[in-house]
This record gives sequence, C-alpha cells and structure tokens, in this order.
Amino acid sequence: MSRLRPTLRQRLARLSPFGIGHTKPKHFRDMLKVGWANRDNLPYAWKILSHGVCDGCALGVAGFHDWTIKGTHLCMTRLNLLRLNTMPAMAADALADVATLRGTDNRTLRELGRLAHPLRRRRGEAGFTRITWDDALAAMGARIRATDPRRLAFFVTSRGVTNEVYYLAQKAARFLGTNHVDNAARLCHSPSTAAMKQTLGVSASTCSYADWFGTDVIVFFGSNPANDQPVSTKYLHLAKQQGTKVILVNPYLEPGMERYWVPSNLDSALFGTDLVDDWFAVSQGGDIAFLYGVIKHLDAAGLTNESFLTEHTAGWADVVARARALAWPLLEAAAGLPAGRMTAFAELIGRARTGVFVWSMGITQHPWGADGVRMILNTALARGWLGRDKCGVMPIRGHSSVQGGAEMGAYATAFPGGLAVNEQNAAALGAQYGFEVPAWNGLAATEMVEAAHRGELDVFYVIGGNFLRTLPDPAYVAAALERVPLRIHQDIIVTDQMLLDPADEVILLPAKTRYEQDDGGTETSTERRVMFTPELPRQVGEARAEWKILRDVAVAAYPEREHLFGCTTGQVVREEIARVVPFYDGVQHLRTTGDAFQYMGPHLCAQGVCPTADGRAHLSAVELPPTADRPAGWFHVSTRRGKQFNTLIYAEVDPLNNAPRDAVLMNDEDAAARHLKQGDRVVLRNRHGIYEARVHIAPLARGNLQIHWPEGNHLIDRTRKDAGGGVPDYNALVELEVPAHATK
Ligand code: SF4
Repeated sequence: MSRLRPTLRQRLARLSPFGIGHTKPKHFRDMLKVGWANRDNLPYAWKILSHGVCDGCALGVAGFHDWTIKGTHLCMTRLNLLRLNTMPAMAADALADVATLRGTDNRTLRELGRLAHPLRRRRGEAGFTRITWDDALAAMGARIRATDPRRLAFFVTSRGVTNEVYYLAQKAARFLGTNHVDNAARLCHSPSTAAMKQTLGVSASTCSYADWFGTDVIVFFGSNPANDQPVSTKYLHLAKQQGTKVILVNPYLEPGMERYWVPSNLDSALFGTDLVDDWFAVSQGGDIAFLYGVIKHLDAAGLTNESFLTEHTAGWADVVARARALAWPLLEAAAGLPAGRMTAFAELIGRARTGVFVWSMGITQHPWGADGVRMILNTALARGWLGRDKCGVMPIRGHSSVQGGAEMGAYATAFPGGLAVNEQNAAALGAQYGFEVPAWNGLAATEMVEAAHRGELDVFYVIGGNFLRTLPDPAYVAAALERVPLRIHQDIIVTDQMLLDPADEVILLPAKTRYEQDDGGTETSTERRVMFTPELPRQVGEARAEWKILRDVAVAAYPEREHLFGCTTGQVVREEIARVVPFYDGVQHLRTTGDAFQYMGPHLCAQGVCPTADGRAHLSAVELPPTADRPAGWFHVSTRRGKQFNTLIYAEVDPLNNAPRDAVLMNDEDAAARHLKQGDRVVLRNRHGIYEARVHIAPLARGNLQIHWPEGNHLIDRTRKDAGGGVPDYNALVELEVPAHATK
C-alpha cells in the first residue's frame, strides 16, 4: 500500500486548469470574501498585511516577504485572521445578560466585536458590567496581594502574542512569587522541547527552511503543513524543482500534501503540484515501532553513518541492540505496516546523502510523545543529519510566537533562555531582577486546570485561549474554572470560557492586538528568526498593550516595589530581554518591518557538536509503547484540524478534503466491512463520551479513524498525558456502532 502512482484517469483529470472539478481550496474566491468582511477597515487591513509580521502560523513573514524565497508570501490563514485585527468594538452592554448567550458558538461570540472596556461579573450577577481600569487594577491587585503565590497561576495563549508579552507574563508571575506560568506550547510541542533538550542540548529547529531546498529527502512525521503552514507548500513546490523528495509518515494521506495548487505560483496554480512522493501509512501511535524497524534495517544493511555516530553521539549501541531484539512481527503489528515498508523507508533515507525531518502534533500528542521525538532524533542521527547544510530536525510550529514562549521563560519548568528551574538559576535570575525568584517547578497548563478543580487556585490569569474548547473533557474544565475565586481573562474577543459562572468574580481585560501594541513587538519563527512587527496605531475602546497590562497588574499588587519591575516601554523590555536571554542579543536593535535575525545562525549543533556536557548527542533506546488491545469493532480515533485556526473555525466543510465538521474519516475497506458508505451515520462510543458522525471515506491506515477537533474532545481521556511535557493525548480507542436506519 501507499506508493503514490496516479492512474491514467487521475493523470488526465490533473490537466484541468486551476483544479476545476477537484476538491481544493478556492483561494481567489476566498480572498474576495476576506476583502468583503474587512470592507469597513480596508486601509488598516492593508497596513497589517504590508507592514506586520503574520499572526497566523510560525513559518514567519513580514509584510509580503520572508527570508527564504523570492516573491509573495501570503495565505488564507493570515487573511482569515485579519478580521480579528480590524473589527470594531463590542457594545459595552453585549455581555449584560450571560443567560442570553449560553450555547452561543464561539464564531458568533467572536462576531460581537473587540473587547473594548474592562468588565466585571460577580457571583449572582446576570452578566458583566463595565468598570474603569483603576477599579479593575485595584480589585485584582488587592486579591493577588492577599493570595498565597502557590495559589496564583498565569496561562498565555499563542494568539498572536509577542515575545514581549511572554517575557512580561513570566516576569509578573515571578515578581508575584510564583512559577505557575505556562503557555500554549505546552499543548503541542512540549514533548519536543523535553526530548530535544535531553538529546541535543537544544530545543528548537536545528536547521533553516533554506535547508529544504535541494536536500535529498524531507520527511513529514504526523504533520500536515499544507493545512497548518500553507506557504510551506510553496517552499516544497520549489524544493521539488531542485530534486528534493517529499515523504509523509502519517495515518492519513493528507489531500493537501498529496496535491496542492499554490496560488502565487503560476504553473502550480494552473495544474497543481504533487507534493508527496511516497506515503507511509503508519497506524496511530505506531511511529516508534516504525522507526525501530527503520533503524533495524539501516543497521542490517550497513546504511548508518558510523563515523558520525562514533564521533558525535552516545547511546547508539543501546538503540541498535533494542532494534535488533525487536522481532519484525511485533514491529509490524505495532506500526500497522508490513516490514517491507519499513525497509523501503530505511533504504530511501539510507541512500540519501542529506535529509530534514519535520514533525508535529501527530507525534507529540501521545503519552509517549517525547519518546516519539527521541526516535525521530535517533533516526536522523543514525544518518548524521545534524549541523550541516540541507540536514536537520525541525519541530514545526503551528502558531505564531509559540517558539518564543519558553525561550522568554513563560514556562512552568523553565526560566528565560529555557534554563531549568532550580536554586542556582533562580538565584541568578533574582540577582538580575533585584527581587527573589521562586526555585520550585510551577504547574503546567493542564495541571493548573486540575489544581483549579481541586480548589487549589485562588487567582487564575488567562491570556487568550479557550480551555473549554482546547482541553479534553469540557465538563470537567468548566467545573474547574467555575471554582476559581478570581478569574481574569485578558483577550481581544469574547470566548465561551469567559461566560462560565464566577465562583466569586470574573474580570475581563481588553487587550490590544500585536499590531496595535505600543512600541511594536517581536515574534520568533520555527527557524529561530526573531522578527519585528511595528506599532500600527489604532485604539479600540480602552484596550491596552498586553505587556503593559501585566506590568500594571503586578504593580497594583505591590506598588511599593514598582521600582524593581522596570520594563516601562516596549524598547526597554527588548533591551532587558537581550541582557537576560543572551542568545536574543540583537532584539533591541530591531526597529521596522523586515528587521530580523536568526538566533545562533542557520544551524544549531554545527558540525555535529552539541551544547551538552560532553558535546555529544545522547540517543535513547526508548520503550515500545504498550500495544493497546483493540477489541473487534473498535478503532483508533485521532482528532484533526479542518479549516480553522486553533479553535477559530472558518468553514463547516474542509476545502482540502470536502469533509464536514461532523465527518468521521474512514478507510474504504473498513467501511465496506461494515457495509457503510459515504455519508452514513455512525456513533463512536467509549467510556468518556459518545460522538455522532457521518462516514467520510478517506485514504487512511486501516483500523484508524479521524474526527475534527475540538468537537471530538469529549471522547478523550484527560488523564492521559505525555510524561515528558504534559501534552494531552488527543487520541482514543472507540467502538463504532451503526444505528438503525443509519444510511443517509
Ligand atoms: S504560512 Fe503561516 S506565516 Fe505564512 S502567511 Fe500563512 S499563516 Fe502567515
């Protein structure tokens, strides 16, 4: 299965210009829709596009140009997000009666407009009332001052916030005596951070996008860049012209990866680009077994880079011993692929001189997510693909700015610079700040919600995001948030988590967007490029810059210590970041659109030398995950993204595969075995919940299903998390039932 050879009919169909008749995004039509949606503020929309750093994914672009390719860099994700930045203020009384908004979906709430004034709702009140900034700060300051710092927590989302905001969030938290500060990267790449730091001594992409071009092979593991980083398809289109082979290791042959029409590239816009050269249909959670099979064959066929392994790594002998000991039938069962496919992959990379491995949440969102990353690193290092041109390992980021979150220290288990939380580092940071910094590890994002549920948080300061939609088990999350005496939500729009009843009081703080932010700001891309986005002045109601609000709240709690906080302007914040995080030195010199630098240069671990104690990469012979017993009639189900950005859903039907939001993607043979056809209704059930869905036939590994996230969240076990980083396992086992009269 899965070598991609189009039939004659498919080849003929591909001759249709602009993909007419194909399932594909209608880019030009959608652009017109975006223009119409922003018609009341088009000049400002244009300013954002032509001067701003994109607030979509973390590929990175300033204005219309990036640092990788010539020509235009623009995608529908960015255009769809524009409205968040151009919409007018929400009416001050829009939340006066929360009962009338119960059950309102987040899309409709978003269309209420921008949060424009501080609002407060106390227990027993029907809704929110406008209050002044002074009253809001006084109320928050008094409550925080009276709170044990271990009962105070901060969470920062990835919603376009800048490095300055992350930095101030962690500084405010530590100024107030807590390390309970975490960010949205916890829910996606925290296993990558843990595994890379332990293996390589670094926790970011070791190479640059430029290394994609002309490398022999680029492999995407559990990743769908056509949906999540759309302009990467343009990179791949150009890379293929230089001979790069593109490989997908994933349960689903993502349609956008199979074929994509790059709108800004004439030949691709006309006739499309076949992106993926080969697809390895690994079963959900089978990546570790798959890669052990690959290593087993690399070893047996003499395809490892022995000189690199000898000079630059430790632990290879254990890895290879484990691979040799694992029998092929066991690996086949766990990977969901025959041995021949594992050896084919090994031959492919074993004969390649250069390669780049890219991965995403299909790898990390498992209880063994960090081990999955370790196996990717083991395999790349077996070929010596580190620290040189056209080689590297890249945890690709889906949201702008998450790369900078932990680097700025907005992380429960890291100080600025990604330094471990311990006595020595706390003392050093405290010496720089002039106040005591706590030395204990804080609560990770999911642990904060669990602490709230146990009644162990008194103040929960949530910047953006929506726990009610992003975390498994929404009923549990709602109960947790409703137990916190003071909930603070700092955001640009309303989400339904804000409407949960107050235990005592809920305060909403209106934030400026990254573009409106005083003194501009910076974001760090997946390839470690720190990019400046200038202030594009606009005032919506009484919204304030997010970093300023954080400073104001901290100082409101301890006004007598204000002189210790500093950070009075955006520029002063950047100057401090440059001092506290030495590898960000240079950030203080960024001034205008296009100003950027790539910290530590194009390659980390140059020439294979890692910043570990002995300079070597430390490989791990990880355990094979326990094979989940899958009773007859049961399936692995994974959650997936459609046309959406995080929880912001932009279309009820995914234009890449025509799947409606209630689709359950299913292999055609699995469907036929149950006499199911396209559109038939089925029920997915496990002990966590029930999910009704319509069958959508798709090229998916047998025994696997996929449903949309966040709708499928109530099938997920919230207690299953990665040990290395704490990311929830957004997968489950489900029984599939066919209700009577199920056919459409
Ligand atoms: S690919 Fe990412 S960075 Fe580039 S325009 Fe689209 S959302 Fe923005």
